[in-house]
Amino acid sequence: MQPASIARGHLRTLPATSSRHLAQTRHLRIPPRSAYQYRSVTIRPSASAYTGFMGDNIVNFYSGQPPLNRLSFHRNETTKMDKHLNASEAKFLLFKDGKPLMSMQTSGETKDKTPTGLLYLSQSSITPYLPSKSFAECPNPEDKDVAKQYQSARLPTTLPALVFLGIDDRTEAKEGAVPAEVNPKDPKGVPYFALDVSGANVGGGNVDLGELGAGEAEFVEPRLAGSSLGGWEANLFAQARALMDWNTRYKFCPGCGSPTYSLWCGWKRGCGSVVGEGRDGYGGEGGKVCPSTKGLHNYAYPRTDPVIIMGILDPTGKKMLMGRQKAWPKGMYSCLAGFIEPGESIEDAVRREVMEEAGVKVGQVRYSSCQPWPFPANLMIGCYGLVASDAGSIDLELDNELEDARWFTQDSVLDILNHPEGTNITRSEHKKFEPKQVNTASGVQEGAALAPAEGQTEESALENARTEGPPPSFRFPPKTAIAGVLIDRWARGQMDEVAIESVKNKL
Ligand SMILES: [Zn+2]
Repeated sequence: MQPASIARGHLRTLPATSSRHLAQTRHLRIPPRSAYQYRSVTIRPSASAYTGFMGDNIVNFYSGQPPLNRLSFHRNETTKMDKHLNASEAKFLLFKDGKPLMSMQTSGETKDKTPTGLLYLSQSSITPYLPSKSFAECPNPEDKDVAKQYQSARLPTTLPALVFLGIDDRTEAKEGAVPAEVNPKDPKGVPYFALDVSGANVGGGNVDLGELGAGEAEFVEPRLAGSSLGGWEANLFAQARALMDWNTRYKFCPGCGSPTYSLWCGWKRGCGSVVGEGRDGYGGEGGKVCPSTKGLHNYAYPRTDPVIIMGILDPTGKKMLMGRQKAWPKGMYSCLAGFIEPGESIEDAVRREVMEEAGVKVGQVRYSSCQPWPFPANLMIGCYGLVASDAGSIDLELDNELEDARWFTQDSVLDILNHPEGTNITRSEHKKFEPKQVNTASGVQEGAALAPAEGQTEESALENARTEGPPPSFRFPPKTAIAGVLIDRWARGQMDEVAIESVKNKL
């Protein structure tokens, strides 16, 4: 075994880059405006009458800052994927049961270990766990139908998930760096992959971290993992976590029940009936034809489920409606949230959810910003809404989802936000709630509240509690969750004024 080549992500920051330089970059990405680690970033809307409001242009935690260059047009080309897979500088992020492998730091008298960042391994160090060093190894190249299936960076059904995440094409591998100018036909950058090592075919599911040269590393609870990441790594983690979850969960074809296999280097799953692994008479000469192999369907691609999350304001704009669920940490309140249902617009979903959960009628709704939420694969769409003139009073008994909902004044919210414990969630609270996360509306809402705290460990939280006097009467989500951003921007008077007036005028 060769010694592991371990590269750590760097969390240092760079000064903001000029907009002129950015305009020359490949994707015209919105960059961080200033150095930060856990803060959302805001780009002020233009004052032009025609471009005055284009959403709040906030780059939220788990969003790209900037994102990897995903090179999605490379995924279905085996030769290109093989080149990335075998690049000497390629980095591999390991997942086990949805938990990322992270480097750990031991500190304090209690010798508690805390995660300090994602751990990237080289291809040579993970060879025992790698399903294949080539996507092109077709077992029967003479059979044209089978050979065709191997032209799309496929892996056999029985192997663990391997996902190509993209290349890092930033000018420097530092937080805050921007992408270099890239020739789209010859992209240059460090390839990143995610590999699932939780399957039984990798040493009975036991990964020998010592053998990997990663003895100090651990597989960390995903929500806790987020609390130790900078903006750039958080996006990489969010992408990898969602893809790992999808690949390991969608093992059977929804159309016919046959096992699926991975292709497009982890970005598509095909029905096994096409490659002679069909069940119940599907596939083969004269066999039944799986519906996934023809027509329009969404069986084969990773899914993203949209969720609305909304800061609902009273007619004066000076109070916000927030609620809490019984299972949440003590005193925690957050914006209302819920899944967008089929055939429903964002605005309709906001109005329906607020009515169902709190009995309050909402009038105008506007988009603010959104956040990828990889638990497991949601897109949190943040909105503000104003209650209608005949809004009615709070009523929790329609769907009985909330334990309480109430109106908070701006001043009372600011008091909480300015309290050192006001947006903190302790590590033990993370651990307590982790197993309960399910992909339901209430589960997502729970997740929106239980975002990683902004850099506070449980120890520092306790220390603060001792030195700062009584604990806060309520708690709100940190700004690593979009709910925290919606609350914070409103409470601090940072909502776009034009948009507020525009909405008010339409009441
Ligand atoms: Zn099928």
